[in-house]
Amino acid sequence: MEEGRARTSRDYRFWEAAAHSPVSRRAFLGGAAASSLAALLAACTGGRAGTTIRPTIAPQQVSALLQQQLQAARSLPREVQLRLVRGFMADRAGQVITVPLGFNYFDGGISHTTPWPYTQDVPMLWYGPGIVPTSGKFDRPITSADVAPTLAKLVGFTDFQAPDGSVMEEVIDPAAPNPKLVVVLVWDAGGNYVLNLWPDSWPQLKGLMPRSTWYSSATIGSSPSSTAPIHATIGTGAYPSRHGILDNFIRFPDGSLADPWSRGPSGLLSPTFGDQYAEAMGPKAATGLFATLSWHAAMLGHGSQANPNVRPVMVLREKGGGEGAEGIAWGLGAQTEPYYRFPDYVNDLPPISQYFPVAEKADGVKDGKWQGHDINSLNFGFNTPARVPFQQRAIEEVITREGFGHHDAPDLFFINYKLIDEIGHLFTASSLEERDSIVVQDANLPVLVDFLNRQVGEGKWVLLVTADHGHSAATDVSGAFPIKVDSVDASLEGRFHATATSPLAQKIRPGWTYLDDAKLKGLGLDLEQVAGFMLDLDKEQVAARPSEVPASVQGDLVLSAAFPAQLLSQLVAPE
Ligand SMILES: [Zn+2]
Repeated sequence: MEEGRARTSRDYRFWEAAAHSPVSRRAFLGGAAASSLAALLAACTGGRAGTTIRPTIAPQQVSALLQQQLQAARSLPREVQLRLVRGFMADRAGQVITVPLGFNYFDGGISHTTPWPYTQDVPMLWYGPGIVPTSGKFDRPITSADVAPTLAKLVGFTDFQAPDGSVMEEVIDPAAPNPKLVVVLVWDAGGNYVLNLWPDSWPQLKGLMPRSTWYSSATIGSSPSSTAPIHATIGTGAYPSRHGILDNFIRFPDGSLADPWSRGPSGLLSPTFGDQYAEAMGPKAATGLFATLSWHAAMLGHGSQANPNVRPVMVLREKGGGEGAEGIAWGLGAQTEPYYRFPDYVNDLPPISQYFPVAEKADGVKDGKWQGHDINSLNFGFNTPARVPFQQRAIEEVITREGFGHHDAPDLFFINYKLIDEIGHLFTASSLEERDSIVVQDANLPVLVDFLNRQVGEGKWVLLVTADHGHSAATDVSGAFPIKVDSVDASLEGRFHATATSPLAQKIRPGWTYLDDAKLKGLGLDLEQVAGFMLDLDKEQVAARPSEVPASVQGDLVLSAAFPAQLLSQLVAPE
């Protein structure tokens, strides 16, 4: 191991060593462990002890191919199966579900999208001196769907019923006063795996732990573990199977595949707590959000689309960016602009170049660069640690000018910092660039705390620190084999004699593959044949450069499970 590199997968700990995971290491790395056919058939007919799964496929109707797929799916840990079910909605998702084996990830989709703990486990820390108990750690499992009902209870709003989440009661002190402001802070991709790759790089967050109420077994609760769905879960208290933001792409009713926010907030099917609170409170309370992408806006809500009288303040950075990409100035895109109020003054603040010294100093070398990179070349410095103080300054401006923390009723403010995620995509979570980003992000915590104490007042606010998913490390750290989406596509189309002009797969996402139903029918195929082919995919078939895969591992399988999505309902009993 090189000096300064992150720990290897063998060494990694979850959120403190004490945290437990319901998924055994053997199940994770072994994936589809063999189970007997007798057990499979018993399960298919509902005969397995302790389950309430109803028979939907009689044993004589189960083809050998489907038996194999069911066996793999049933070998997944129950927590993983639950995450798949909670993340799925038939008309918006693809038709064939895929689960990568171990640390393998889809390369060309989104690399941090899996149902496994390394992308699912997140920090969940509530800090609010004088309001939130300083009980420290709780081990009981909770999920991102529990955030919205907890926010509602914290501010004393009893009309919100979370469809899937429940209150983290440990956060609530019935004798405590109502906060004047609650801030939800998401470190995008700051999941436990990422933080624990760099265990000494977040001392400020660690310092808050004994003075807060925090959860060692917090998960996002559903798969795919991507940005859009989890921010919607945080906002709504519902899982994607209900709120409909399944992934960074969904299928719309007209059949097209697009960003769930490409048609505005209507893609989010459930109301958020913020929607209901803003409508009920009117001018008595303020709600707002400071982030970069419309995917993050789901924490706040539908804006004036839900109620014309509500037009909450919102800052994103989508002007000049492509779909799912951050832009070059604070601003709302055409899809969100009509429904939220953008505070123009945030673009009048000092430019990010003023904060370049923060990026330069982050690696400890005074050479005008950051880890050898020209700072301006990384999205004009926005994809460097300079982003953190730059964004913090703008957040302070919005909180101050909009009077957050100074209304009659408690105010709500949602923040997403996307640096850890962007750097993870550019350099991997085990890169020194990621370490620097975590250090600078963490060092901003006391800056935010001091600001809130000054602006809102000591003992008058609550801060939640959490994340929307983890991220993938370099392959030599995790042992992952990247599943190249283009190679999967070529293998699939080649096997079933589809053509480039009339392909079978419309889009291959990490969680599922969207297939062209007409093409499937035209080729005389059914879903189990496609799923069977995918379950058998090996390293040679999915490699970016097959000729570079050593002969000894060419035949290694890369997925734990692949099966027709309609079988999901048989995997676990509804909650
Ligand atoms: Zn994210």
